[in-house]
Amino acid sequence: MGAPVIRILGGGKEVGRMSVLLRPDNNEKRGILLDAGVNFDEEDRPVFAATYPPKYVDAIVMSHAHLDHIGTAPMYFISGSPKVYATRPTAQMAKLMLEDFLKLNGYYSPYEHREVKALLDATEYVRYGQRIDIDGVELSVYSAGHIPGSAFIVVDVDGTRIGFTGDVNTIETKLMKPAHLDAIGKLDVLITEATYGSSLHPPRARAEERLLAIIEEVVDRGGTVLIPAFSIARGQEIMMILAEHDPGVPVYVDGMIRKVTEIFLENSEYINNPGLLRKAYNEFNIVRGWRDRNRAWKHPGIIIASAGMLKGGPSLYYLKRIGGNPRNAVILVSFQAPGSHGRRVVEEGLMPGSEEPVRARVEWLDFSSHADRRGLLEIVRSTKPRKVVIIHSEEDVAQKYAERVLETGIPENVVIGENNAEIEI
Ligand SMILES: [Zn+2]
Ligand SMILES: [Zn+2]
Repeated sequence: MGAPVIRILGGGKEVGRMSVLLRPDNNEKRGILLDAGVNFDEEDRPVFAATYPPKYVDAIVMSHAHLDHIGTAPMYFISGSPKVYATRPTAQMAKLMLEDFLKLNGYYSPYEHREVKALLDATEYVRYGQRIDIDGVELSVYSAGHIPGSAFIVVDVDGTRIGFTGDVNTIETKLMKPAHLDAIGKLDVLITEATYGSSLHPPRARAEERLLAIIEEVVDRGGTVLIPAFSIARGQEIMMILAEHDPGVPVYVDGMIRKVTEIFLENSEYINNPGLLRKAYNEFNIVRGWRDRNRAWKHPGIIIASAGMLKGGPSLYYLKRIGGNPRNAVILVSFQAPGSHGRRVVEEGLMPGSEEPVRARVEWLDFSSHADRRGLLEIVRSTKPRKVVIIHSEEDVAQKYAERVLETGIPENVVIGENNAEIEI
């Protein structure tokens, strides 16, 4: 028996498209896949992670439901039938996300609804702290603090304890408790995301104060505030902040945010403060069709709508209705990828798809659901690994973060994961 080996299939020196294959005893015919995600290029076409022969993949563990962690997974069901492990909310949201992905990208996708269904049918739910045996390899998952259901995956192979962060957050927010590091304990090897490995987020309380102050100002002068937000987690986080402070004007919620909120409420043990989310869901106006949508933007109020980068969906519709009036405001609260409509609105002040200026006030606030450098280092200090593998990070960020990790004096070895590389552990 050889030592365990990992192969990076995606997410090496890039943010997203995460996929790591673990070969327990360096047997080429056995593997456990941690995530299998997809990214999008500048033209918004999907870029899939590399794959391993499906017949040699025993199991796929999905850390959470974002497409950059699951969008390649159905490919393993074109010719294979691995077992799949995920928490219940991850599995339920995976269905929404993958079906939506096929609706928008079916033309470019090598898999179809049949494979998505096979993946979901093969999924066994795992709970935080539960231990599962996969042919002699012990799998357990812990709360990663990133979005509801997100898992920090731990795999025990012959006494070597390997941790995989998935996407992780170490601060408390309205929606999420921080990653449960105490439950994870000590690791031998840490495979870590480092999206924000070289920077620090401003304190969350300050972002919340700014959000509420801008809303108050705009609402006071009779304007409408549009908050484009990701359907998973960011939309609900904003709903909860508003529910706690009663903005005094109608709040509308539109897009896939509604269905995801319902999944969260069904899985309330995965949420920090389910009572507050329920309050928001009950009190706010849930937009259910064009009649509601046409009404929502016509009076002073607040609209929380997907998509978060104005890629399409109701947020783009609302921007076109309210963006031309300086009395209104657009507050972006999600990551804005270079080349996205949202980034263009922030940087050039132009309406998507036209040369018309945006006259509404535009703001971009940091409500990131990823740990920053400080949080990531906290994970290293808490898990004390002898080896750290950095993935899900731009190359220059990964390099800066690697130096910081070495400075802790904890791991002997820090490796920046590279796509298609194999790393002995
Ligand atoms: Zn990710
Ligand atoms: Zn994520």
